[in-house]
Amino acid sequence: VAATILLVEDERKLRELVRSYLERGGFTVLSASSGAEALSLAGSATPDLVVLDLGLPDVPGETVARELRSHSATPILMLTAKASEDDRIRGLELGADDYVTKPFSPRELVLRCQAILRRGGQPAGASFEPTTFGSGELVIDEQRRTVRVRGDEVAVTPTEWGVLVALATVPGRVYSRYEIINRTRGYEFEGYERSVDSHVKNLRRKIEVDAGRPEIIQTVLGGGYRLGLSRDG
Ligand code: CA
Repeated sequence: VAATILLVEDERKLRELVRSYLERGGFTVLSASSGAEALSLAGSATPDLVVLDLGLPDVPGETVARELRSHSATPILMLTAKASEDDRIRGLELGADDYVTKPFSPRELVLRCQAILRRGGQPAGASFEPTTFGSGELVIDEQRRTVRVRGDEVAVTPTEWGVLVALATVPGRVYSRYEIINRTRGYEFEGYERSVDSHVKNLRRKIEVDAGRPEIIQTVLGGGYRLGLSRDG
């Protein structure tokens, strides 16, 4: 079954261009030209991925992203004309998985969509049994791609999943931001290291008892991050 992408872009020509590339890339595409239309389609059609333009005529794309994030972990790829790093980081802090700055190559956009959805799929060599950490506080089930924390399932985006699985590879080992990007994405591009911090921040809000005093994902000053729980068994 082809993955469904919800494409949200108000500029008709660009929307049609991107749609045709995505369709040639094997995706089923639903499109919306406003934030309101996007939210209604996202609710009724449950897309696998949302490609979201930030400059929309009715509401800012950021508002659409926040609204989507409030009830789902559907991956979001942002299309932004805003080139400053702070703007991009803000988008990632809203829970976007990735962003592409306009003008972009439609082929690259297709590759990014494929990469995000691959991250969400079953990783190669996944174990069949869930792995538990910290006497069961954290359970990572690579087969079902689910995360349980203190008994409750937590919805994570593909990128958050990638970060968590990367850190859980060797609990206690310090992973630099660069290593985390490499393990999570399989490719890297400029200015991305700071974005790891945004994904970690979002993850902490979901899994830590107190995100202000994180114990599961620990920051190592000048080093990176490490998983603060040991593997059980
Ligand atoms: Ca626009």
